[in-house]
Amino acid sequence: MIEFQELKTLLSLPQRIMITTHYKPDGDALGSSLGLSLVLKEMGHEVLVISPSDYPGYLGWLPGASEIQVFTEQAEFCEGFIHNAHLIFCLDFNHLKRINELGEVVGRSSALKIMIDHHLDPQGFEDFQVWDTEASSTCQLVYRFLDRLNKKAYINKDVATCLYTGIMTDSGSFRFPRTSPDLHRITANLIEAGADNVAIYEKINASQSLNRVQFLGYCLLKKLVVLQEYNTAFFSITKKELDLYQIETGETDGVVNYALSLETIRLAVFFVERNEKIKLSFRSKGSFPANELAAKYFSGGGHLNAAGGESELSMEETIKKFYSILPEYHQLLVI
Ligand code: 5GP
Ligand code: MN
Repeated sequence: MIEFQELKTLLSLPQRIMITTHYKPDGDALGSSLGLSLVLKEMGHEVLVISPSDYPGYLGWLPGASEIQVFTEQAEFCEGFIHNAHLIFCLDFNHLKRINELGEVVGRSSALKIMIDHHLDPQGFEDFQVWDTEASSTCQLVYRFLDRLNKKAYINKDVATCLYTGIMTDSGSFRFPRTSPDLHRITANLIEAGADNVAIYEKINASQSLNRVQFLGYCLLKKLVVLQEYNTAFFSITKKELDLYQIETGETDGVVNYALSLETIRLAVFFVERNEKIKLSFRSKGSFPANELAAKYFSGGGHLNAAGGESELSMEETIKKFYSILPEYHQLLVI
């Protein structure tokens, strides 16, 4: 572990810095990585943002996104950069397994590791952390970090756009419980710094492909299963169905919320077949611990009301397993 002052001193000299975030990055993951990278570059550092996997097309417009390197596509180049890096920023994740194969490279590296994150149960691989599970988003924490470094003056329109995007997406457009007065103050500062809140909302939420909207219609009409007895609802989507609607990375995000929007439903799940595995997204209302269920049965985790996990079984077997564990949670689901 190092002290903040030590890190601040290091950052006052030009360094070679790698920034990474979790695989299949979302708005907060990429917004925080790009926002921080733009500031560090302005400060005179050499910076590379590496995504462990491809990233969703709906985030491709973010300032600086065209310079992101995808580890699975440029492994050798990325490893070369990391080999000579002085600092590694790990944003929006706290377990090396969340960056897939890149985790081994980061784990082996002798660079100083700085984690900025708001998820529960950190693994403890870092040398310095900005960690707050009460924060709405990693972008909120990046803002605080820049403030503490006395570098708020570097938050120009592009940086503000990146940070605003992550705050908006991770707070469910300012409606989730961690939407605090502090968050609104930061958001106001970002708008003053040039973030166009109306344009960003439209880019994220009103720029969908026809396929994506029709896929949503298909899910709602044909794939929604409601288990009234357990106040639970779910969707299960196969690879074939994804292909039929040409659904790409990130385009299934948010579908699960429609199951949770039903009255009485306290637990919603989205099962999707991806890369020979089943990926699960859990959402819950109130005190139901989606993260505990995900961790106990599906090698996952996350937050109380939004968690994820995976299964090596077939879709059919995974759903069977899910049915078999529901009785254990009956009491928590029917209150
Ligand atoms: P999503 O359903 O949007 O993929 O993920 C919801 C939340 O659960 C996110 O905060 C994410 O960090 C967390 N999460 C998703 N998948 C996993 C996983 O496989 N393992 C862990 N520990 N957390 C996950
Ligand atoms: Mn986040």
